[in-house]
Amino acid sequence: MKTKIIAIVCLLLTTSFIVPKRRENQYLINQSVNTEINTPDEALAELKAGNARFLANAMLNTDYKTQIEHTKENQHPHSLILSCLDSRVPPEIIFDQGIGNIFVARVAGNIVDADILGSMEFATKVKGTKLIVVMGHNKCGAVKGAIDNAQLGNLTQLVSKIKPAIVHNTDNNKMDETAQNNVKITIGNIVRDSPVIAELIKEGKVKIVGAYYDIESGKVSFL
Ligand SMILES: [Zn+2]
Repeated sequence: MKTKIIAIVCLLLTTSFIVPKRRENQYLINQSVNTEINTPDEALAELKAGNARFLANAMLNTDYKTQIEHTKENQHPHSLILSCLDSRVPPEIIFDQGIGNIFVARVAGNIVDADILGSMEFATKVKGTKLIVVMGHNKCGAVKGAIDNAQLGNLTQLVSKIKPAIVHNTDNNKMDETAQNNVKITIGNIVRDSPVIAELIKEGKVKIVGAYYDIESGKVSFL
């Protein structure tokens, strides 16, 4: 009996050396969504930290199988990102958020319409999402299309929604200034056209912020 116990203890000790040790805090974000991110400011801090991890190539949220297991019954994403269609701007990756941590709405030029507003209302009012981020980026084709007055099928009416953001008479980078202005106008449109979200912001339950992604560096700046 004694020998058997010693053998089992030896086996357990050996196994603990063979099995690679899980990195510390590897699943922190998935675990923290419900327990630690309770305010808009905490959600914003996590997105900033996530982009810093991405820039350092030190992502924590890449164990998708475990994330699927953690989220199979429900979801409580802490943030919603409205981002451009551009293939170089994937929010889950650049904020290191994996599966189940953020809602993402994507449309060329990161504009809003009634369907996207409805999605935002579902996220915030029904699922308790704390933070809405409207994120533009540099070298945006949709912004260029608006500036160049692009005409193509349904794209014509899409870029017309960006045109109010065009910055005229600028000595600086017209594309950057217009894209950032477009983010600010979109935020205004969200608050103006969604009394549901406006009320949540007034109550302090939700925050809405602008962001700008640099496709050359991978860095997100909050506006
Ligand atoms: Zn774009």
